[in-house]
Amino acid sequence: MCGRLDYYLQAFTQLNPNKNRKVWTKQTNYCSPYKPFLLLSILDHINSGEITRNFIEPTFELTETFQRYIEVLPPMTRKASMALPMYHLKSSAFWTLKPKADNPQPHGSISSIHQFRDSFYGVELDKELFVLLQMPTSRERLREILVQTYFAPEIKQLVSEQSVINCQSSIYSDTLLKTAPRKNPQVAEIAAPYNHAEITINQQEKVRDQGFRKAIVTLYDHRCALCGIKMRTPEGRTVVDAAHIKPWSVSYNDDPTNGMALCKICHWSFDEGLMTVNSQYHVKISPDVMRDHNLPGHIMTLSDRPMFRPRESRYWPDLESFKWHQEKRYRNKSSNPYI
Ligand SMILES: [Zn+2]
Repeated sequence: MCGRLDYYLQAFTQLNPNKNRKVWTKQTNYCSPYKPFLLLSILDHINSGEITRNFIEPTFELTETFQRYIEVLPPMTRKASMALPMYHLKSSAFWTLKPKADNPQPHGSISSIHQFRDSFYGVELDKELFVLLQMPTSRERLREILVQTYFAPEIKQLVSEQSVINCQSSIYSDTLLKTAPRKNPQVAEIAAPYNHAEITINQQEKVRDQGFRKAIVTLYDHRCALCGIKMRTPEGRTVVDAAHIKPWSVSYNDDPTNGMALCKICHWSFDEGLMTVNSQYHVKISPDVMRDHNLPGHIMTLSDRPMFRPRESRYWPDLESFKWHQEKRYRNKSSNPYI
């Protein structure tokens, strides 16, 4: 197996990425980072148990992890779709695309996840490579070779840190979902540092944010708890945020029962006290909204409608947290002197 690891270490240094010097800077050694970022994302999902069999599908979750790596780099004008490396890694011998029998193969290149899904079910890796990726030691050597080969010194550290954050946040999210709601809720402990690496306070914060978000967005299946909107882009972006009912700064409580998935408008409205939820889980709209016709009309239509909750009642929001919100944040009386 050792000889095979050497073979794949070598293969990972020869991914043949796009080398257009007009597009790529010295931060990525004048190469496209998409192929190494996709492989790093797959390594993270194998590490977290999100990928357990040798069949890689272009899931929303994998796309989201890929985008987190892209965000490590300075903003690019180029649109980063995971479809590009998913398709073009076919030039590597260890990567086999699994075509759909009833759909014609693309004539040109593939540039969107929709196009990819139209033509392929997913990807199979060499069986020996997949076995090596199950082993933490060989997986980390393959991760290391990707970071060392494709990124300049000033970016290497950031990419490695993102790997730690991705792996740790998945563990944190699992911990939040598997732990029964606590009577005296406190933040679940962040797992022991991944791969014995030092984890800074700043990284811990990112792990917590990303892990809480993952748990909440999964529980609510990307749907806003108050208005019900559900929108996602193929590039791994979702309309919802993971919101704390009783803010983190007050409660230090990441338990899913202190959270909801909220779209941008509902998140802002909830934080500003323009919306709340009562003890029957019904949405209440502040008189400030009801009387000011310049505010979005659709918010008014939500009044007294039941909120959307996770399927399992043990994850439903804690009514005590809503009570806190009603007392401390909700604008129960009109505060607008002009109405
Ligand atoms: Zn909403």
